[in-house]
Amino acid sequence: MQALYFDGQAGLRHLPRPEPGAGEALVQVRLAGICRTDLEVLRGYHGFRGVMGHEFVGQVAGPTHSPWLGKRVVGEINVACGHCQWCRQGLARHCASRQVLGLSGRDGVFAHYVAMPEANLHEAPPEVPDDAAVFAEPLAAALQVIEAAAITPASRVLVVGDGRLGLLIAWVISRQGAAVSLVGRRPGKLALAVPYGVEIFLEKDLPDDSFYDVVVEASGAPGGLALALARVRPQGTVVLKSTYAGAAPLDTARLVVPEVRLIGSRCGPFDAALRLLRQKLVDPRPLISHILPLAQGVEALALAQQPGVLKVLLDCRAAAD
Ligand SMILES: [Zn+2]
Ligand SMILES: [Zn+2]
Repeated sequence: MQALYFDGQAGLRHLPRPEPGAGEALVQVRLAGICRTDLEVLRGYHGFRGVMGHEFVGQVAGPTHSPWLGKRVVGEINVACGHCQWCRQGLARHCASRQVLGLSGRDGVFAHYVAMPEANLHEAPPEVPDDAAVFAEPLAAALQVIEAAAITPASRVLVVGDGRLGLLIAWVISRQGAAVSLVGRRPGKLALAVPYGVEIFLEKDLPDDSFYDVVVEASGAPGGLALALARVRPQGTVVLKSTYAGAAPLDTARLVVPEVRLIGSRCGPFDAALRLLRQKLVDPRPLISHILPLAQGVEALALAQQPGVLKVLLDCRAAAD
C-alpha cells in the first residue's frame, strides 16, 4: 500500500499492508485530515518516525470475524497500555506508555490502510458524509474546552486564533449558548464564525476594556498566549489549546497577580462530536480548502502550511494494493 512516511523528511512509500494485532481492526482509510500537529511533526515534535496522520474516516476491512467489519468509522488517537497508574485511574488518554496514532510510536492514517484497536473506533452515523466525519477528532478536541474550563451559557468567552481549531472551538462554544468572541487577523476566516452568532474582531480592533471569563488560545503562535493573558478577567481562566514544537514565553506575573487559572486541553469526547455532526448543529465543510489524493501527500503538506489555507484533506481511497 501507499503511505506518507516521515523519517526526518516526509515522502511517499510503498509499505506492506499492516497486520492487525489482537483486538485490532484493519481500516481502509477513505479521507484523512492534515492537522497543525502533523505540521509540528515535520519540525521535530516528539521525534516521531513513521506513517503520519491521525484524523480520518474509513471502513473496516478486516479481520473477517470482527464485529466492526464493513462499518464506516472514525477513531480516537491514543492507544493506552491498560495497566499503568494512569490507566488504572481511568486516565487512559494520559497513559505513561501510550502510543498516539501518527504522532508517537504508532503508524498513522495517511495510508491506504491502518491497524487500529477496536476499542478506539466509533461508528460514523449514516447521515454524516465522509467530508464531515473526518472532522470528528478536531471537533472532539474543540468540545473538550467546554469541559476543561467549565463553560456555561452564562460565560463570556474569547477565542484567540482564526485557524481551523479556533473556528471549530468558537462554533461549538457558541452552540452551547455562551457569548463568544473570536479574534484573529484574517477577515475572510473570521467571517466563517458569523453564521454561528460569534462576534468577530481583528486583533487591532479588540476594545481595550473587553475582558472575558474564559480565553482560549488556539492561534498556535506564542503571541497568542500573551494576548489571552491580557484579555482574561481577574480569577478567570485561560485554556491553552495549541502545542508548540518549541517553548512559549510566559510572563508569570500576568498569571499570579490576577489569580488566573491556566489550563491545558488536548483530546475530547468523540460521541458528543458525532452527535453535533449528526444533528447538523455544526457543519465543518466550509473549512475544507483542498482535497488531494494521497499520492500528492507531500504537496498537500506544503499546501497546509501556506497562510490562509484552512483544512487540507487527503483522499486515500485509491485502489487497494
Ligand atoms: Zn489533529
Ligand atoms: Zn497505561
